[in-house]
Amino acid sequence: MTDHFDVAIVGGGIAGLTAALYLAKGGKKVVVLELQDQLGGRAITNKKNGVSFNLGSHALYAGDAYHIFHELQLNQDIFRKVDEFHPYGIWKENIHYFPASTGFLMKSQLLSVSDKVKFGALLMKILRLDTASMPSVSLRTWMENNVRSPMIRHLLYVMARGGTYVQAPDLQVAGPLFRQMQRSITGVYYIKQGWGALVCELTQQARRLGVALVTGRKVASVDHMGGRVYSVTCTNKEHIPASQVILTTPPKVTSKLVPFSEQTSLKTWEEQAIPITAACLDIGLRRLPSSKHQFVYGVDQPVMMVNASRIDGLELSEQDDVQLFQMIKFQNENCDPQQDRKELEDALDLVQPGWRREVVTEQFLPRMTVVHDFMHMKRKENPGPVVPEIRGLYVAGDWATHGEYLVDGAAASAKRAAQHILTQ
Ligand SMILES: Cc1cc2nc3c(=O)[nH]c(=O)nc-3n(C[C@H](O)[C@H](O)[C@H](O)COP(=O)(O)OP(=O)(O)OC[C@H]3O[C@@H](n4cnc5c(N)ncnc54)[C@H](O)[C@@H]3O)c2cc1C
Repeated sequence: MTDHFDVAIVGGGIAGLTAALYLAKGGKKVVVLELQDQLGGRAITNKKNGVSFNLGSHALYAGDAYHIFHELQLNQDIFRKVDEFHPYGIWKENIHYFPASTGFLMKSQLLSVSDKVKFGALLMKILRLDTASMPSVSLRTWMENNVRSPMIRHLLYVMARGGTYVQAPDLQVAGPLFRQMQRSITGVYYIKQGWGALVCELTQQARRLGVALVTGRKVASVDHMGGRVYSVTCTNKEHIPASQVILTTPPKVTSKLVPFSEQTSLKTWEEQAIPITAACLDIGLRRLPSSKHQFVYGVDQPVMMVNASRIDGLELSEQDDVQLFQMIKFQNENCDPQQDRKELEDALDLVQPGWRREVVTEQFLPRMTVVHDFMHMKRKENPGPVVPEIRGLYVAGDWATHGEYLVDGAAASAKRAAQHILTQ
């Protein structure tokens, strides 16, 4: 490849593809270089025995990414809104109504009558919070200042974890977290045929706009001289000349790819990053033993379970009746994935007794990095979009968040980088 590109994008996940679309629409000549043989990164969908598995349970909230996908005019038919929310909670080996929906608030035995009123009022308050102007305090501090009842606090922690995958109340900054909670309460979407369909939409559009999409190509370094980027070099020794480079790789990889990165902001961004991981067990079941329990939070254990097939028209299985039950174990640093799997199976025994007889297929991902960083109290600065010390170098990806969570961080940071390039 001897062409000179305006922009070389390293990584063909949601961030890389989103940036490519904005840039190509803005008239730039763009190449996306992806290490794997397929595009999509952590948003791919794999088919096994006729069932489509994302890399763990994925829901799209009505946030930055959703609006960006609209702005990019992706086919709207792939977005399926979740209209019903009937959550249950596991507490002391029993399943309870979880009071986060209007229907279940009064029925739930997890709260006393007076706490139910307070909890309902608190959810309304959270929905109305002006999160942008909140002081930068941790979730724990906010709870201590605003919520007296230990059980209400606990339930809010459970919901916070469910919407962000993060369980670190002392670290998580309250404002961005509540913004994410507002989004997860007001609009949740699933993707028809899995998140791979989203990748497919982005890829098709990128091709139509003339973006060069190169898979199976590992970038080894970003070449810069005199404080300016001029090309990227791949492990096959190929040099790809480009005036600007966007790195959408994880923070550690990003630092490694840039010679002398220790003299740049990349060092700070790498050091401050706190990755979040989860064990994911997804099971295709011939039928659901309990049709009631489709969405279950662990209240006294860090798990969450959801039947993705409860949403009409999602087409996650070639056989109509097969139900895709997705389970997450939120991990901490000292996790043991096999123990995590056992805990998920034990929880499923409670939620869907007899499930073992119904298994059609399964996927277990022992330790997935859900995000490479999030908005936490130890952050010194928000990464990107520019790497200030090297002209023409940009970062994007879920870790380059300026307050957005999960894929919102990936899409919003990609848009920031692309817009910066387009306005130069
Ligand atoms: C279990 C799980 C559950 C999740 N649930 C949700 C959810 O419910 N809602 C939500 O919004 N988000 C969710 N996410 C997060 C979401 O999937 C990610 O935020 C998003 O896919 C990240 O996109 P990205 O482009 O930033 O990174 P990636 O998808 O990781 O893309 C980076 C790409 O760079 C490539 N690469 C790395 N090194 C090189 C190199 N040297 N050369 C070339 N290419 C390279 C990688 O192969 C990869 O394809 C979940 C993630 C996981 C794992």
